[in-house]
Amino acid sequence: MNKNWKAATLAVQGGYEPKDGEPRVVPVVQSTTYRYDTTQSVADLFDLKRAGFFYSRLANPTVDVMEKKIAALEGGVAAVALSSGQTANTLAILNIAKAGDHVVASAALYGGTVNLFTVTLPKMGIKVTLVEADASEAEISAAVRPNTRAIFAETIANPALTVLDFEKFANVAKRFDLPFIVDNTFPTPILCNPFKFGANIVTHSTTKYLDGHATSVGGVVVEGGNYNWANGKYPELSEPDPSYHGLVYTDTFPEAPYSVKMRVQLVRDLGCIQAPMNGWLTNLGMETLALRMERHSENALKLAEFLKNHPKVDWVSYPMLPGDSQYELAKKYLRGGSGVLSFGVKGGKEAAAKLLDTLKLAALVVHVADVRTSVLHPASMTHRQLTDEQLVAAGVKPELVRVSVGIEDIEDIKADFDEALNNL
Ligand code: PLP
Repeated sequence: MNKNWKAATLAVQGGYEPKDGEPRVVPVVQSTTYRYDTTQSVADLFDLKRAGFFYSRLANPTVDVMEKKIAALEGGVAAVALSSGQTANTLAILNIAKAGDHVVASAALYGGTVNLFTVTLPKMGIKVTLVEADASEAEISAAVRPNTRAIFAETIANPALTVLDFEKFANVAKRFDLPFIVDNTFPTPILCNPFKFGANIVTHSTTKYLDGHATSVGGVVVEGGNYNWANGKYPELSEPDPSYHGLVYTDTFPEAPYSVKMRVQLVRDLGCIQAPMNGWLTNLGMETLALRMERHSENALKLAEFLKNHPKVDWVSYPMLPGDSQYELAKKYLRGGSGVLSFGVKGGKEAAAKLLDTLKLAALVVHVADVRTSVLHPASMTHRQLTDEQLVAAGVKPELVRVSVGIEDIEDIKADFDEALNNL
């Protein structure tokens, strides 16, 4: 693979180089096991003296292609594919933090990540301080403690659509010599490369645009190769690991110690690898990633403009819409706004619920980021137990409709919304 290839080429051909007579299309290696000629071959694999496959809980040739493609697209040095986006964010932290440690994260996060950070990680002894996305550098710095092990944020937050102020968070991470972990799920590497803006680790829910067809739950963690893990703060990486006869990851694998440790220690012990079929489908989906992200962004901007001018619509939120509160940050860091927008229907909660029942092309689903246009009304779905006052406090207005704009013809998408809105 030519590392200088542009993203659209890497998305199609990255990670897989068939040799003479081998399949042109990545094969799905649906096998848990691999055969060897000698016990020495297997011993060398177990001792990590040579690379190869010996059991699909650790690595699999199909998943390996997909990992290499994502690493190349992000401009990273290695990637580990996992069973879901939730697992990706969990392991990204657990790989470098243990009971007694602390993490600082932007509060503009996916709800599942908020729960992970405020309920589950604390139960494991890892405390997380959430800082507002618009906090100043001084305020973020004030949240850092001597036992802080990472700073975490999302490029475009789901569902708030807040765009990450990379410079601000990266400056704090650098000042305290901490790794900066960024969940880049919504933009994908086609619209943003967090490593260029100071991130050291990138995570994805591959369930979203990378797969793009809503077939496979998965996640990935990508290592940037731009952080010194031997700085004394991460002894699990820079001191002997008893699991591997005293192996020191930073010495033996200086190019990608974080990824090697994650795979051979956490993935081995916790068993949360991505299944070969999911890796295969995700890789196939990624072949059209560049085309799809261009179209998702174009359609979402056109729908945002259309809705903004519609008499039945109160407000529209889309980072690439001129005048949006996130517009300046979006222009600075993104090459497109991705496919998710939200808007408020005049008439509040009831009108929003009725709208969703009337739409025909846009389907009601609890998912975002695939080729089909879909909608969600948090107030009557994911957040239905909350009162109107509680909804506002949670940042979810009762009239808010979230749209994941697909790649269908924009005229058909607009017509669907127009008809449903006019029927209110
Ligand atoms: N990160 C973000 C930004 C998400 O939107 C999601 C899911 O919606 C996740 C992580 C979790 O991913 P998964 O559903 O694949 O576990």
